[in-house]
Amino acid sequence: MPQDKIWLSSPHLGGHELKYVQEAFDTNWVAPLGPNVNAFEGELASYVGTAHAAALSSGTAALHLALVMLGVGPGDLVLCQSFTFAASANPIVYQGATPVFIDSEPTTWNICPEALETALKKYSAQAQRPKAVIGVHLYGMPARLDEVLAVCEKYEVPFIEDAAEALGSSYRGRKLGSFGTMSVLSFNGNKIITTSGGGALLSNDKALINQARFLATQARDPAPHYQHSHIGYNYRLSNVCAGIGRGQLEVLDERVAQRRANYTYYTQELGHLPGIAFQQEPEGSYSNRWLSCITIDPAEAGGTTRERVRLRLEEESIESRPLWKPMHMQPIFRDAPYFGGRVAEELFERGLCLPSGSNLTDHDRSRIVEIIQSTF
Ligand SMILES: *Cc1c(COP(=O)(O)O)cnc(C)c1O
Repeated sequence: MPQDKIWLSSPHLGGHELKYVQEAFDTNWVAPLGPNVNAFEGELASYVGTAHAAALSSGTAALHLALVMLGVGPGDLVLCQSFTFAASANPIVYQGATPVFIDSEPTTWNICPEALETALKKYSAQAQRPKAVIGVHLYGMPARLDEVLAVCEKYEVPFIEDAAEALGSSYRGRKLGSFGTMSVLSFNGNKIITTSGGGALLSNDKALINQARFLATQARDPAPHYQHSHIGYNYRLSNVCAGIGRGQLEVLDERVAQRRANYTYYTQELGHLPGIAFQQEPEGSYSNRWLSCITIDPAEAGGTTRERVRLRLEEESIESRPLWKPMHMQPIFRDAPYFGGRVAEELFERGLCLPSGSNLTDHDRSRIVEIIQSTF
């Protein structure tokens, strides 16, 4: 009998989303601004612990505005973690700047502080100062922020924190999304909470967030007619979507607990298999475990590869996915400079994201681990 499809990470509504959406309809605030947007921004900022937040149409839009506001333009360099989703890097190219990719370190899989310093040292010796460093917390795991931020400070380059996957995670007791000069969140459909599509830019700098709101609504100068002194964007979040977000924020901590329970289950059921390793959570770090990921070393696993496991799961209607393909390996970024070794490349070769939805049932999870166990 065919079994139900198990998704990698699907939306999981809490129950109050429709109440906020209904309010938007009842009051005719079906627009890219309104009470849900204002409230969602306040609730987000207070959850993450930043002074200000701007709700936007996507995480990509938030990254783009961050670069615009840092004055990134043609000829500039922006350093970016290579091991990530393309959305971290694409906005660098929107601005006509050059992305420079940095390898990961093997513990958290995030930007390697040593490779970052090598790059910054080299550019500084050439009297070039990159305009920004973009670091990511992949799959919810905090990067080695103490070291990364120290390097950024030493070379006086602003840090843009791509926390798109990391809402609900924390580092040394402080929520991720509060560590960048500007920080980015995403509420896409597969993220830990969703607005069906949306994002946010967070900062303690009120001027930056006000500027982001201004640019995101077509950069209208204060005048009764339409007057523009800047190039604007249509990047605001709709009041309807913000209503979904308000309902989702109410259950965020529950979603983190559910995803962490998935991870614990996988470590218990799969940890003994030869050649399997997990993404480590160093002391002081707390991951939302957005996705539970494994790596498989075929030499130790008796020839079992991550691709064999993925295809076996697919045969059983279970979606899993290789880890991100590093940006410096992507055809579109072939010519971009790269600093580091083969950490990200090896993670891509060996790594697999397992189904991680907060709505997985016990039955789903045992189906998944039984199939994986049987491939070894
Ligand atoms: C999802 C994601 C983004 C982009 O967010 P969207 O809301 O989909 O535009 C950026 N960076 C990372 C690491 C992501 O996972």
